[in-house]
Amino acid sequence: MKASIITIGNEILKGKTINTNFAYIGNALTNAGYDVWRGIIVRDIADEIGFALKTALDSSDLIVTSGGLGPTYDDMTLASVARALGMNITLNEDALEMIKAKYKDLNIPITDQRRKMAMLPEGSYPLPNPVGTAPGVFINYKNKMIVCLPGVPSEMKGILDLTIDKLKSPGKSYVEKTVRLQGIMESAIAPLIEEEMKLWGNRVYIKSHPGSIEVSNPYIDIEVSSHLDSREEAEKDVDSVLNEIMAKYKSYIGK
Ligand code: ATP
Ligand code: MG
Repeated sequence: MKASIITIGNEILKGKTINTNFAYIGNALTNAGYDVWRGIIVRDIADEIGFALKTALDSSDLIVTSGGLGPTYDDMTLASVARALGMNITLNEDALEMIKAKYKDLNIPITDQRRKMAMLPEGSYPLPNPVGTAPGVFINYKNKMIVCLPGVPSEMKGILDLTIDKLKSPGKSYVEKTVRLQGIMESAIAPLIEEEMKLWGNRVYIKSHPGSIEVSNPYIDIEVSSHLDSREEAEKDVDSVLNEIMAKYKSYIGK
C-alpha cells in the first residue's frame, strides 16, 4: 500500500526548520510496510493544505500530516482538511476530555484557544498525545486513512509511536540490509548493480550510497530492500542479492 506525507509550515519552506518530521514519519511508515510515494511541503494556508491533501489522496491509501494542530491562529490543519473533504468541524467530546485532563493536572483553565484543539472533523477520532496537549487525529475517508499529527517533533513521535501498530500495511513486510564495500568506486560497481536490478528488480530495490572520496579512498554502502507479503521471502531475496554482489564485486574494482 502507498502512503504520502504532508509537512505543513512556512518555517520548513523558508529553511528555518529542518524537516526532521518527514524523515521520522517516512522511516516509520516504510518499516510498517508502506511504499512512501510522495512528500509534500506546504505553507500554513488552507488552500495549500487542501491542495496537498487532494493530490496525496489520488495516489495513497494512507496520508500523514504534521504541523498546525496547535491553538494559534495559524494552526489550521484540521479546518483545512475538513474543508477539502467536505466535512464539518465539530467539538469532539473525547478530544476535549483529553485536553481537559492535561490542563487539569496543571491547574490551568480551558480557554477558547485550548478548546479549539478539540474541534475535529466530524466522525474522526482523537489520538492520545503522551507528550503535549493537542491530540492527533485519525480520519477514515472513503476507505483511506488520514492521520494528522502536531509539528513539535517530540509530540509527533509520541503520538505516532502509539499509533503505528494500528496503521501497519496489511500483509506487507519490509526488509532492508546494507553492506559496506571498501576500495571500489560507485562508477565502477554501477554495471553490477544494473545487472542485479535486471535480474531481481521486481522483488528487491538496490541503492548504492557512496562515501568518502570517490577517486582516492572510496567505499560504498549497498542497501538492498524488499517489500513482499512474506517476511521470510523478502529476507531470502535480500540475502541472495547481497551474496551475489559480495561474490562478484571484486572483479569490478579498478575498472
Ligand atoms: P504548536 O502547538 O506548537 O503550535 P503545531 O502542531 O501547531 O504545534 P507547528 O506550529 O506547525 O505545530 O510547529 C511547532 C514547532 O514544531 C515549529 O516551530 C518547529 O520548530 C517544529 N516543527 C514543525 N514542523 C516540523 C517538521 N516538519 N520537522 C521538524 N520540526 C518541525
Ligand atoms: Mg503551531
